[in-house]
Amino acid sequence: MTSQRTRDRLVRRLQDEGISNMQVLELIRNTPRHIFVDEALASRSYEDTALPIGHGQTISQPYVVARMTAALLESGPMNKVLEVGTGSGYQAAILSPLSGQVYSVERIQPLLEQARMRLGELLLRNVRLKHSDGSWGWPELAPFDAIIATAAPEQVPESLLDQLAIGGRLVMPVGPPGVQDLILLTRTEEGIERKVLDKVSFVPMLGGVL
Ligand code: SAM
Repeated sequence: MTSQRTRDRLVRRLQDEGISNMQVLELIRNTPRHIFVDEALASRSYEDTALPIGHGQTISQPYVVARMTAALLESGPMNKVLEVGTGSGYQAAILSPLSGQVYSVERIQPLLEQARMRLGELLLRNVRLKHSDGSWGWPELAPFDAIIATAAPEQVPESLLDQLAIGGRLVMPVGPPGVQDLILLTRTEEGIERKVLDKVSFVPMLGGVL
Protein backbone atom coordinates (compact mmCIF):
# COMPACT_ATOMS: atom_id res chain seq x y z
CA MET A 1 0.00 0.00 0.00
CA THR A 2 3.03 2.30 -0.22
CA SER A 3 3.53 1.35 -3.88
CA GLN A 4 3.95 3.65 -6.87
CA ARG A 5 0.34 2.85 -7.83
CA THR A 6 -1.09 4.24 -4.56
CA ARG A 7 1.08 7.36 -4.89
CA ASP A 8 -0.08 7.87 -8.48
CA ARG A 9 -3.69 7.50 -7.33
CA LEU A 10 -3.13 10.19 -4.66
CA VAL A 11 -1.67 12.58 -7.24
CA ARG A 12 -4.62 12.00 -9.61
CA ARG A 13 -6.97 12.76 -6.73
CA LEU A 14 -5.16 16.01 -5.91
CA GLN A 15 -5.37 17.00 -9.59
CA ASP A 16 -9.12 16.27 -9.54
CA GLU A 17 -9.37 18.53 -6.48
CA GLY A 18 -7.74 21.38 -8.40
CA ILE A 19 -4.01 21.16 -7.61
CA SER A 20 -2.24 21.92 -10.89
CA ASN A 21 1.33 22.89 -9.89
CA MET A 22 3.39 20.07 -11.46
CA GLN A 23 6.44 20.70 -9.25
CA VAL A 24 4.30 20.24 -6.16
CA LEU A 25 2.47 17.20 -7.58
CA GLU A 26 5.78 15.50 -8.48
CA LEU A 27 7.10 16.13 -4.97
CA ILE A 28 3.96 14.62 -3.46
CA ARG A 29 4.42 11.62 -5.77
CA ASN A 30 8.09 11.14 -4.93
CA THR A 31 8.26 11.98 -1.21
CA PRO A 32 7.82 8.84 0.93
CA ARG A 33 4.97 10.00 3.22
CA HIS A 34 4.90 6.52 4.80
CA ILE A 35 8.19 7.15 6.62
CA PHE A 36 6.63 10.18 8.39
CA VAL A 37 3.95 8.10 10.15
CA ASP A 38 4.01 5.16 12.53
CA GLU A 39 4.54 1.81 10.78
CA ALA A 40 1.02 0.72 11.78
CA LEU A 41 -0.40 3.59 9.66
CA ALA A 42 1.95 3.19 6.69
CA SER A 43 -0.72 1.43 4.63
CA ARG A 44 -2.92 4.56 4.89
CA SER A 45 -0.16 7.07 4.20
CA TYR A 46 -1.14 7.74 0.55
CA GLU A 47 -4.78 8.39 1.40
CA ASP A 48 -5.75 12.05 1.14
CA THR A 49 -6.28 12.37 4.86
CA ALA A 50 -4.59 13.71 8.00
CA LEU A 51 -3.23 10.92 10.24
CA PRO A 52 -2.24 10.88 13.93
CA ILE A 53 1.47 11.28 14.76
CA GLY A 54 1.20 11.11 18.57
CA HIS A 55 1.03 13.82 21.26
CA GLY A 56 -2.47 14.72 19.98
CA GLN A 57 -0.99 16.00 16.69
CA THR A 58 -1.44 15.07 13.02
CA ILE A 59 0.45 14.93 9.74
CA SER A 60 -1.51 17.28 7.47
CA GLN A 61 -3.76 16.07 4.66
CA PRO A 62 -1.82 15.89 1.35
CA TYR A 63 -4.36 18.19 -0.37
CA VAL A 64 -3.71 20.89 2.24
CA VAL A 65 0.09 20.42 2.04
CA ALA A 66 -0.11 20.79 -1.75
CA ARG A 67 -2.49 23.78 -1.61
CA MET A 68 -0.35 25.70 0.90
CA THR A 69 2.92 24.89 -0.87
CA ALA A 70 1.54 25.87 -4.29
CA ALA A 71 0.16 29.15 -2.88
CA LEU A 72 3.62 30.10 -1.56
CA LEU A 73 5.42 29.04 -4.74
CA GLU A 74 3.12 30.79 -7.17
CA SER A 75 3.75 34.26 -5.81
CA GLY A 76 7.53 34.63 -5.57
CA PRO A 77 10.94 33.22 -4.63
CA MET A 78 11.45 30.79 -1.74
CA ASN A 79 15.04 31.44 -0.70
CA LYS A 80 14.32 31.57 3.01
CA VAL A 81 11.25 29.77 4.34
CA LEU A 82 9.97 29.50 7.92
CA GLU A 83 7.59 26.74 8.98
CA VAL A 84 5.75 26.92 12.30
CA GLY A 85 4.77 23.39 13.39
CA THR A 86 7.32 20.82 12.15
CA GLY A 87 5.14 17.91 13.35
CA SER A 88 6.19 14.81 11.43
CA GLY A 89 8.57 16.76 9.15
CA TYR A 90 6.58 15.89 5.99
CA GLN A 91 5.69 19.48 5.01
CA ALA A 92 9.34 20.48 5.54
CA ALA A 93 10.40 17.59 3.26
CA ILE A 94 8.08 18.90 0.53
CA LEU A 95 9.39 22.46 0.97
CA SER A 96 13.06 21.46 1.03
CA PRO A 97 13.70 20.93 -2.73
CA LEU A 98 11.70 24.10 -3.53
CA SER A 99 13.59 26.37 -1.13
CA GLY A 100 17.07 27.70 -0.52
CA GLN A 101 16.80 27.05 3.21
CA VAL A 102 13.89 25.85 5.34
CA TYR A 103 13.73 26.79 9.04
CA SER A 104 11.13 24.85 10.97
CA VAL A 105 10.02 25.30 14.58
CA GLU A 106 8.16 22.77 16.76
CA ARG A 107 7.01 23.11 20.40
CA ILE A 108 6.92 19.34 21.18
CA GLN A 109 10.49 18.08 21.54
CA PRO A 110 9.91 14.32 20.86
CA LEU A 111 8.14 15.19 17.57
CA LEU A 112 10.99 17.48 16.61
CA GLU A 113 13.62 14.78 17.26
CA GLN A 114 11.67 12.21 15.24
CA ALA A 115 11.30 14.69 12.36
CA ARG A 116 15.06 15.39 12.54
CA MET A 117 15.77 11.67 12.11
CA ARG A 118 13.40 11.28 9.16
CA LEU A 119 14.66 14.36 7.34
CA GLY A 120 18.21 13.08 7.94
CA GLU A 121 17.28 9.70 6.40
CA LEU A 122 16.15 11.56 3.28
CA LEU A 123 19.42 13.57 3.28
CA LEU A 124 17.50 16.86 3.24
CA ARG A 125 20.33 19.05 4.48
CA ASN A 126 18.76 22.48 3.91
CA VAL A 127 16.22 22.05 6.72
CA ARG A 128 17.16 23.52 10.12
CA LEU A 129 14.96 22.67 13.10
CA LYS A 130 14.40 24.41 16.42
CA HIS A 131 12.53 23.48 19.60
CA SER A 132 10.57 26.62 20.38
CA ASP A 133 7.19 28.32 20.49
CA GLY A 134 6.86 29.25 16.83
CA SER A 135 4.27 31.94 17.36
CA TRP A 136 7.34 34.13 17.99
CA GLY A 137 8.77 33.08 14.61
CA TRP A 138 12.56 32.94 14.38
CA PRO A 139 13.45 36.65 14.73
CA GLU A 140 17.26 36.25 14.50
CA LEU A 141 16.87 34.85 10.97
CA ALA A 142 14.15 37.18 9.67
CA PRO A 143 13.09 38.39 7.16
CA PHE A 144 11.63 35.35 5.36
CA ASP A 145 10.38 35.13 1.77
CA ALA A 146 7.72 32.71 2.88
CA ILE A 147 6.18 31.63 6.18
CA ILE A 148 3.89 28.65 6.55
CA ALA A 149 2.10 27.76 9.78
CA THR A 150 0.57 24.31 10.12
CA ALA A 151 -1.30 24.98 13.36
CA ALA A 152 -4.14 27.49 13.74
CA PRO A 153 -4.02 30.56 15.99
CA GLU A 154 -7.22 32.53 16.59
CA GLN A 155 -5.47 35.57 15.10
CA VAL A 156 -2.35 36.04 12.99
CA PRO A 157 0.61 36.59 15.37
CA GLU A 158 2.07 40.07 14.78
CA SER A 159 5.58 38.65 15.20
CA LEU A 160 5.13 36.45 12.11
CA LEU A 161 3.90 39.39 10.04
CA ASP A 162 6.89 41.44 11.21
CA GLN A 163 9.27 38.71 9.97
CA LEU A 164 7.99 38.76 6.36
CA ALA A 165 10.23 40.34 3.71
CA ILE A 166 8.69 42.84 1.27
CA GLY A 167 7.04 40.58 -1.30
CA GLY A 168 7.00 37.82 1.32
CA ARG A 169 3.97 35.53 1.76
CA LEU A 170 2.46 33.96 4.85
CA VAL A 171 0.06 31.04 4.47
CA MET A 172 -1.75 29.75 7.54
CA PRO A 173 -5.04 28.60 9.02
CA VAL A 174 -6.68 31.21 11.25
CA GLY A 175 -9.69 30.82 13.48
CA PRO A 176 -11.20 28.85 16.35
CA PRO A 177 -10.84 25.06 16.77
CA GLY A 178 -13.03 23.22 14.25
CA VAL A 179 -13.14 25.10 10.97
CA GLN A 180 -10.67 27.84 10.07
CA ASP A 181 -9.92 30.07 7.07
CA LEU A 182 -6.77 29.17 5.20
CA ILE A 183 -5.35 32.61 4.42
CA LEU A 184 -2.56 33.96 2.24
CA LEU A 185 -1.05 37.27 3.38
CA THR A 186 1.41 39.17 1.19
CA ARG A 187 3.59 41.99 2.50
CA THR A 188 3.82 44.81 -0.07
CA GLU A 189 5.50 48.23 0.15
CA GLU A 190 2.07 49.60 1.08
CA GLY A 191 1.04 47.07 3.70
CA ILE A 192 -0.51 43.60 3.93
CA GLU A 193 -2.80 42.00 1.30
CA ARG A 194 -5.13 39.24 2.52
CA LYS A 195 -6.79 36.48 0.56
CA VAL A 196 -8.87 33.53 1.83
CA LEU A 197 -7.94 30.33 -0.02
CA ASP A 198 -10.10 27.64 1.58
CA LYS A 199 -11.85 26.33 4.67
CA VAL A 200 -9.64 23.94 6.68
CA SER A 201 -9.43 22.17 10.02
CA PHE A 202 -6.05 22.30 11.78
CA VAL A 203 -4.87 21.59 15.31
CA PRO A 204 -4.60 24.79 17.38
CA MET A 205 -1.41 26.83 17.64
CA LEU A 206 -0.51 26.63 21.33
CA GLY A 207 1.92 28.66 23.42
CA GLY A 208 4.93 27.38 25.33
CA VAL A 209 7.09 24.29 24.77
CA LEU A 210 6.82 20.62 25.82
N1 SAM B 1 3.74 20.33 9.23
C1 SAM B 1 3.39 19.19 9.98
C2 SAM B 1 3.62 17.89 9.23
O1 SAM B 1 3.93 17.95 8.03
O2 SAM B 1 3.51 16.84 9.84
C3 SAM B 1 1.99 19.31 10.50
C4 SAM B 1 1.95 19.08 11.97
S1 SAM B 1 0.53 19.38 12.90
C5 SAM B 1 -0.83 19.68 11.85
C6 SAM B 1 0.89 20.97 13.61
C7 SAM B 1 2.10 21.03 14.49
O3 SAM B 1 2.21 22.35 15.01
C8 SAM B 1 2.07 20.10 15.71
O4 SAM B 1 3.19 19.27 15.69
C9 SAM B 1 2.09 21.06 16.91
O5 SAM B 1 2.81 20.57 18.01
C10 SAM B 1 2.77 22.27 16.29
N2 SAM B 1 2.53 23.53 17.01
C11 SAM B 1 1.38 24.00 17.56
N3 SAM B 1 1.58 25.20 18.12
C12 SAM B 1 2.90 25.50 17.93
C13 SAM B 1 3.72 26.60 18.28
N4 SAM B 1 3.26 27.67 18.95
N5 SAM B 1 5.03 26.56 17.92
C14 SAM B 1 5.55 25.50 17.23
N6 SAM B 1 4.82 24.44 16.87
C15 SAM B 1 3.51 24.43 17.21
